[in-house]
Amino acid sequence: MNYLLHTYIFIAGLIFGSFYNVVGLRIPKKESIIHPGSHCVTCDRSLHWSELVPVLSWVFQGGKCRGCKTSISFIYPLIELSTAILFTISPLVVGWSKELPVALALVSLLVIVLVSDIKYMIIPDKVLLFFLPVFIVLRIISPLNPWWDMLAGAVLGFCLLLLIAVISKGGMGGGDIKLMGVLGIVLGWKAVLMTFFLASFSGAVIGISLMATGKVKRREPIPFGPFLVLGALCSYFLYDELISLYLYILR
Ligand SMILES: [Zn+2]
Repeated sequence: MNYLLHTYIFIAGLIFGSFYNVVGLRIPKKESIIHPGSHCVTCDRSLHWSELVPVLSWVFQGGKCRGCKTSISFIYPLIELSTAILFTISPLVVGWSKELPVALALVSLLVIVLVSDIKYMIIPDKVLLFFLPVFIVLRIISPLNPWWDMLAGAVLGFCLLLLIAVISKGGMGGGDIKLMGVLGIVLGWKAVLMTFFLASFSGAVIGISLMATGKVKRREPIPFGPFLVLGALCSYFLYDELISLYLYILR
């Protein structure tokens, strides 16, 4: 294993993760992702470079703004760390191959979606429209087997969630439906199905436990996006392992 290369990709993941926090927070508010520079959302103070170091700034500042002492959510360093870990895992799973850009792009989309959906319960069209052509080009360079599986995945992902939305009368957001269509290009139809089952299962488990502990009220909506993100990551990186596990349990 090339440790230096993996260290680089981990650090790149931290920096990209920090950028994806900004993208996920600003795009739904129709703000520029470049201007203004990073600032505290409470006291509006511009941040010094030493406050912008991924994960470490948050840890050393005790999770608070240096100016106004407002708490900064642990979600932000967690997103940075998760991006770094997923970036580092990518070449270990798919190798230093044509598939690596696909893996990194997938992680990038999923991290941005996670930030937006947790914060605003929105999966921004702008983000999906950016990644759609990127995924198509990357899937032409690194095709699934058979090649048309990208189309089958996109159609199945879109239609499956559309069907759920119709049956549940709006229990599924438009953003979730479009996200699954875009993810289908990367995943193909089998991993789309797995993503759907994993997301529904984990969503049900978490949803019921949140209701049981009184953290959310009955009928209060919880975003489905984070579960789709979790499901897509597991089915992309662990498809064979999960199938083996499933067959082992059935035996
Ligand atoms: Zn502040």
